[in-house]
This record gives sequence, C-alpha cells and structure tokens, in this order.
Amino acid sequence: MSFTLAIVGRPNVGKSTLFNRLVGKRLALVDDQPGVTRDLREGPARLGELRFTVIDTAGLEDVTDDSLQGRMRRLTERAVGMADICLFMIDARTGITPTDQVFAEILRKRGAHVIVAANKAEGRAGDGGVLEAFSLGLGEPLRLSAEHGEGLDELYHILRPIAAGFEEQAEADAPETDIDLPEELLEGDELPAFAPTNDKPLQVAVIGRPNAGKSTLINKILGEERLLTGPEAGITRDAISLRMDWMGTPMRIFDTAGMRKKARVQEKLEKLSVADGLRAVKFAEVVVVLLDAAIPFEQQDLRIADFAESEGRAVVIAVNKWDIEEDKQDKLKALRQSFERLLPQLRGAPLVTVSALTGKGLDRLHDAIISAHEVWNRRIPTAKLNLWLGLMVESHPPPAPGGRRIKLRYMTQAKTRPPGFVVMCSNPDDLPKSYERYLINGLRDSFDMPGTPIRIFMRSQA
Ligand code: GDP
Ligand code: GDP
Repeated sequence: MSFTLAIVGRPNVGKSTLFNRLVGKRLALVDDQPGVTRDLREGPARLGELRFTVIDTAGLEDVTDDSLQGRMRRLTERAVGMADICLFMIDARTGITPTDQVFAEILRKRGAHVIVAANKAEGRAGDGGVLEAFSLGLGEPLRLSAEHGEGLDELYHILRPIAAGFEEQAEADAPETDIDLPEELLEGDELPAFAPTNDKPLQVAVIGRPNAGKSTLINKILGEERLLTGPEAGITRDAISLRMDWMGTPMRIFDTAGMRKKARVQEKLEKLSVADGLRAVKFAEVVVVLLDAAIPFEQQDLRIADFAESEGRAVVIAVNKWDIEEDKQDKLKALRQSFERLLPQLRGAPLVTVSALTGKGLDRLHDAIISAHEVWNRRIPTAKLNLWLGLMVESHPPPAPGGRRIKLRYMTQAKTRPPGFVVMCSNPDDLPKSYERYLINGLRDSFDMPGTPIRIFMRSQA
C-alpha cells in the first residue's frame, strides 16, 4: 500500500525544490496530467524503494496580507487533509518565523504524522534554525538540503517505518474491517497528541486483554450501566469514546472493548483487540493498562505498555480484580518486581490496585492519571536544567575516548508531552547510550518525573 506525503510550509522555504527532487524526471508527466488543481501539485514520488504520492502547495505568493494568509491556511489544510504524512518545511537559515508558527498550529490540530524538515541546512549556516525547530513541539527536526540532496537518506529512514506501519495497519484492518470507527476517532481534531491541554478533556485510553475488566471499570466510573458487561470476552458493546467528569476532572475515555463491537469472528478477537488497543493508544494522552490480577503482565499487556511508551504516552498500570486476591501484600510485592523486570522502560510509572467491581481503589486510579498527565506536561526551566547537568557531569563525567573527554555544554527542554530535552555535546556520536540512560534516570529522580517517557536528543557543538 502506498501513502501520500504533503509538503507544506511558507513560500520560499524550498518546497518545490524538494518536490522536484522526489518526483524527478516524472515531472513532465505531472504537468501534463489533467485535473491537477492550480494550487496543489501532485506527483508520483520515489525514494529508495518507497513509492508514494507527493503533494506540494505550489502557487503561493509571499504572505503579506490577511486574505493571503487565509488562502494559505485553506490550501494547507486541504493538502494536509489529503495526506497521510505531512512534511512541514522551514528555512533553517531564517529560523522560525511567525508564519511558520501558523503552520505549526494547523499541523498540531491535525495530528497526522508530521515531519519537521529544516531546509537549506547544508554547511553550518542552518545550525541555529535546526535547533530552533525543536521549539515547534512537533518532534525532532530533519536536517535537509533539498537543493543539494542532503538529508534524503534520513527522510527515507523516517518514512520507511511509517510506510510499513500503514501496510501493517492495512493488513490488520483488511479481513475484519467491519469495525466502524466513529467519526470523532477519524477526525484530526480529536487527536490529542499535539493538542493543548487546558481547554480539552483529558484523553484516556483503557487498554487490556479481553476480560481484564475494562467495561466494568468504565461502567463504574460512569456510575451507570451504559455499557454491557458479561462473562464472555467480546460481547457486543456500544460506546467507544465517552465524555465524562470523573471526580471533577473532564475526561474522554476511549473504550477499546467497544471497538471490537462488530467483530464477527470469535477467534479473531484476541488479535483484533490488540490492533484496536494500539490504535486507541494513539488517541490518548494517558494510557491505563488494565491487568487482571490473576494473570498479570501477559505478553499482550507488555506489548501494549511498550507501545504506549514508544509512542510517548503517559502510562498508568492498574491491576484489577484486587477484591479476589487473598494475600494482597505478597502479591503486590511480586507485582512490583515483575513490573520492574518486564517493563524497565516505564520505571516509576504508577501501579495501582483496583476493583472495578466494588469500586475500591478508583480514587487512587483517578489521582494516578492526573499526576501522570501532569508529569507528561511538565516543563523544567533551562537555568535549573543546566545547574543539574553540571552536577550530573561532575559526579559522573562522560567518557574520554582517545583521551578527549566528551563535553556536555548546555541543555534545554525542547518539548513537553512527553518531555524532550536537547543537550549540546562536543561529539555526540561517541557518547555511549548508557550515559544517555544515566541522564534520563537522573532527570526522572531529580525532577520527580516517574513513568513518563523522557527523550534526550544529543546535538553536536564543538
Ligand atoms: P517554495 O516556495 O517553498 O516552493 O520554495 P522553492 O523550492 O521555490 O525554493 C525557494 C528558493 O530557495 C529557491 O531559490 C531555491 O533555489 C532555494 N532553495 C531550495 N532548497 C534549498 C537548499 O537546500 N539550500 C539552499 N541554500 N537554497 C535552497
Ligand atoms: P473487558 O473484556 O475487559 O471489557 O472485561 P469485562 O468488563 O467484560 O469483565 C470481564 C469479567 O470480569 C466480568 O465477568 C466482570 O464481572 C469481571 N470483573 C471485572 N472487574 C472485576 C473486579 O474488579 N473483580 C472481580 N471479581 N471481577 C471483575
């Protein structure tokens, strides 16, 4: 299966240059094609063995007045609406401009795959702009020189797994695609990954194996029997995403149990619920991994928890059916040990025991969700970070390969949701992964950020 990539960004950043490079000689064919709109160019692109469609928002003059700004916005929104992946291009030599911020805002709302590309980055002139691009909060920027063909390799390496993901998704969707996702799930606006927090309900996904008690839990939270629960896995359920106030906190809860609503083939349930679970993770800010106390940390649970971490979501582990457990103290100890051993990447994530049936422990679950969300959104002042970095380096200096000690010069938090940090480093390629882990674990402990995925980007600065 192929995908569509839209190149968006303000005029003159180099979009057409990249478009031409990706489409190459087939360009003539593009211009000959009837029906291509005046403002949007579309063409068949090739990068390595990847084949895809590329859209370019051509025909934009420099934005000088409001009407143009509006037109630019509409055009971009249209291109973005047609695309699976958006390549958002900025000019690394100019740095981030207010117009770039307008684009960033459109893309954040849309929530599709966004690749930030800092173009014109050949040589060193673009270094500052590349760093600045972190501040857009749309992930690590790609250094690109469309004119000189630099960075295309990296672009390929970024696109390939995403493209593979589409293929996997298409496969997973194909045979049993009777699942009707509600429109709100399909609409970009509901994607919380890049959405602001304050004016939106907290987006929570409750994930777990069939029969873990997801529906029972959500019923209990709702305080009414709006979903059906029963002893068999995969019973028909209706609700998929529910708006509610839980102890005064506005939330939207994605019920993955509901998502298998239309699955007709019983044997496929297991597989289906995982695929649905994975999808729900993408919509969530906080993922509650609901385990059955009798069979905790099964393969499927681990896979979902790991996926939630790698997608950068805040994770809360909830162990359900705690009412049945007899030796609670020993069991809890064992659970914590398994958790640490099997999911080290989620170190410190809250683990709470609950009974969805009786409602015991749900207040703690509520608080754990709120605090995981808070940590996920935390921003640490640069001054504090650099004081901290100095102490960390002092107590455990980086290695000195070939007698030249690696220097960590400066650090800043480039993004939140989850927290991401940039460290300027004399030769980042030589810094061992273990040192990055030392810093990440240190950040967790020093700034009290348990559980949340933390990313560190090492940047070269001599
Ligand atoms: P668009 O308006 O975004 O489609 O931008 P264009 O592709 O028309 O490029 C605008 C200008 O930037 C042209 O003069 C290009 O030659 C130049 N340009 C494009 N890519 C690069 C690059 O990687 N490095 C440099 N230095 N200039 C570039
Ligand atoms: P789902 O497939 O994850 O949505 O699971 P359900 O909510 O349908 O629950 C599966 C079964 O576990 C049902 O029979 C529930 O009554 C039972 N169950 C759910 N939560 C609890 C709990 O906290 N304690 C006990 N004892 N049983 C529970």
